[in-house]
Amino acid sequence: MFSEVLKSAAKPAKYFAKLEPDELGVKIRCGLCPRECIIREGETGYCGVRGVLDGELVTFIWGHPSSIAVDPVEKKPLYHFHPGSLVLSLGTIGCNFRCKHCQNWTISMADADSAGLGLLEGEPIEPPALVEICRRQGATGVSFTYNEPTIWMEYVLDTFRYFREHTDYYTCLVTNAFINPEPLKDVLEVTDAYRADLKTIKPENLVQMALYNHPEKVLETIARVAKSGVHLEVVTNIVTNWNDSEEELSAMVEWMADNVPHDTPWHFTRYFPHNEYREEATPVATLRFAERIARERGFKFVYLGNLPGADGDTTCPDCGQTLISRAGYSARTLVNEARCPACGKALRSLVLPERKG
Ligand code: SF4
Repeated sequence: MFSEVLKSAAKPAKYFAKLEPDELGVKIRCGLCPRECIIREGETGYCGVRGVLDGELVTFIWGHPSSIAVDPVEKKPLYHFHPGSLVLSLGTIGCNFRCKHCQNWTISMADADSAGLGLLEGEPIEPPALVEICRRQGATGVSFTYNEPTIWMEYVLDTFRYFREHTDYYTCLVTNAFINPEPLKDVLEVTDAYRADLKTIKPENLVQMALYNHPEKVLETIARVAKSGVHLEVVTNIVTNWNDSEEELSAMVEWMADNVPHDTPWHFTRYFPHNEYREEATPVATLRFAERIARERGFKFVYLGNLPGADGDTTCPDCGQTLISRAGYSARTLVNEARCPACGKALRSLVLPERKG
């Protein structure tokens, strides 16, 4: 059964079906992510933050971030979207995966029943307060990041809708793309950018990190976003002795090439040991291999991350002109519009802030 703190934080959840009760009582199927947990009274789902209270599916974390900061948008990473801007960034607790190398495991592996209790005390942060923080801190957008944003989708939607209606700030998600089609459709209506992880294409790998054997669910999401018109950037964190074989990297490149426009920015990032996973950091040669085969298959904007000295500049794929220069997380945009000033090439995947006046 839930504590009084949890009960007072509970808010109605979306995306569920009530199933026929049996001898053990009520059963609700959460439909937010493909895991589709069957949850009973007094229990939470796999992500640890959605549960059944008084016969209804509730979320315990609406408006309760565990982390809130203003970051350069390059840190998400988003390289072709409002480069050089600051973005208000929020995360909470819980996740619908359990990656053994998660950098943010102290929040992603907490649940509302345990480490979340202190977090849930106090009033939730309403969306207008987030707008106020943006104004004070000079941020021009809001981002759900740090842990998996899908699992507090009710708060994400309320926040993004408020920002859309009341501000000209942008909205973006940093996500594992493990979400069902209905909530995805809803969030694509109100997000300006979708930064998706493509972690693995092999069922046995996904089982190892997420106890789930259908990586195609993530692929389907990425393909849907690619067709939606919402700005998409993809990250593949190459993890030593997990998703780093030439066979798997080649399969990912083939799938991406067949399903995603080739001007989509694709970031290959270097893994470092975190949490339970202690293999050595990704060899630089592996990152270079992934970069090479992605470029050979037609990807025009391939970046290497977590690699000091890697060239993070954005250059024109036709003439090589530098369009955005980067040093660490700072970026200097050298174009006024999404077009190469040297050769005139249109840059479809570059989203710049609208010029005022
Ligand atoms: S969002 Fe959480 S409760 Fe819902 S199906 Fe996914 S893991 Fe289960």
